[in-house]
Amino acid sequence: MKKLNVNKEACIGCGACVSIDSEHFDFDENGYSEVINNDNIDNDNTRNAISSCPTSAISYVEEDNNNNNDDECDCEHCDHHCEN
Ligand code: SF4
Repeated sequence: MKKLNVNKEACIGCGACVSIDSEHFDFDENGYSEVINNDNIDNDNTRNAISSCPTSAISYVEEDNNNNNDDECDCEHCDHHCEN
């Protein structure tokens, strides 16, 4: 299942995603965007927020709960301790 991810290192806190799609994005305590809701993320408004981000900080990622798919491990987002 897909979920939204904000790369906080890339986010500059411009607020575009928050103003376009406040159902899914809000500012965290540091003024950067964070995902507040992963329901109904496959819609034009959310895609518009993603494409409006000036630093391409927002992306859809695959949720990897209970998923023993080591070949698909993406260390950047990985919650497991993989060998890489
Ligand atoms: S649009 Fe991008 S840079 Fe701007 S607040 Fe959202 S995630 Fe951060």
